[in-house]
Amino acid sequence: MELFQLLAEHDHEQLLFCHEPSSGYRGLIAIHNTTLGPALGGTRYWKYASEEEAVIDVLRLAKGMTYKAAVAGLNLGGGKSVIMADGKPVDREAIFRAHGRFVESLKGRYITAEDVGTSPPDMDYIYLETSHVVGLQGRSGDPSPVTAHGVYRGMAASALTKFGDDSLKGKTIAVQGCGHVGYYLCQYLAEEGARLVVADLAAEKVQRVADEFKARAVKPEQIYGVEADIFAPCALGAVVNDTTLAQFKVKVIAGGANNVLAEPRHGDELERKGILYAPDYVINAGGLMNVNGELEGWSADRAHRKAGEIYDTMLKVFELAKEEGLPTYRAADRLAERRIAAVAKLKRTWV
Ligand code: NAD
Repeated sequence: MELFQLLAEHDHEQLLFCHEPSSGYRGLIAIHNTTLGPALGGTRYWKYASEEEAVIDVLRLAKGMTYKAAVAGLNLGGGKSVIMADGKPVDREAIFRAHGRFVESLKGRYITAEDVGTSPPDMDYIYLETSHVVGLQGRSGDPSPVTAHGVYRGMAASALTKFGDDSLKGKTIAVQGCGHVGYYLCQYLAEEGARLVVADLAAEKVQRVADEFKARAVKPEQIYGVEADIFAPCALGAVVNDTTLAQFKVKVIAGGANNVLAEPRHGDELERKGILYAPDYVINAGGLMNVNGELEGWSADRAHRKAGEIYDTMLKVFELAKEEGLPTYRAADRLAERRIAAVAKLKRTWV
């Protein structure tokens, strides 16, 4: 593994290898870009097959955060950290306090939060060592209602672009996943009079949405083939792939899940099929806006309003895609890169 080559490949600023022997803590903190502000991104606690896999993952995730924050219009850069689990039980206080000390050593260049495998109590352990952590218990709270609001508005912008009208009334929307984001999204959609078709692996979650919002439930494997206007992935990543592409009977894909495209070429394929894709990190940025609000002292209402701006951002992405003949996922990247480049160029004056 040529580490500096890996950093150079996607222009990462810094990669920190962290080790604390008494707890068995092994962590990596990646900072991709801090042009816009401190690098913010969660801590993932995960069992990796190799150190190389962990390095590649943390670099990829950190870069993703740079783009997400840039498009969302936040004063944040991109970073991420991973803690390598070995499958054995651990003392979480020791592990997360050790991590917190390394986060503190960066003096605010990196701010951490919850991610896969970590929870608010872990963040509280980190907070014992550093204030550069968000997503604490009793602060900005569950981000999923804000995320769902952003997805709902981004979906309306997608409908405007595809159908010439941003109303979702009477539209059939297939929602995959009735968890945190999926549930609140269904609530917004039902209130507007959309027809819902839903699926989840957990029977009780589907039942709740079916009962409360008069949704039609289908089996998890059937959701990709539902004849609908919009498919809203709100469960897993990589749901647009070689297998599902042949099944979709929708005009728009817009949902809360991260990493929706299995590979970039699947975004090109959606374009060829005439399916409008609302890029995942643009439409699901409400969660990041919510934790940003924790840093900035925003009210819950302000975070909610900020997530509503995803409507306009999504329209900008679609316009740029049209102007430049790009697939929408590439247009989103370009919008992020333009903002970073513009801010980087701003002239410094002596004060
Ligand atoms: P969650 O765990 O509450 O809900 C996910 C749901 O998907 C669960 O109910 C699960 O049973 C279901 N599911 C899993 N595999 C499935 C399958 N094959 N078919 C149907 N259902 C399946 O998670 P969440 O917080 O609602 O997040 C959902 C997605 O949105 C994730 O990809 C997450 O990364 C992304 N996201 C969430 C937020 C947030 O604020 N929570 C923010 C940004 C992105």
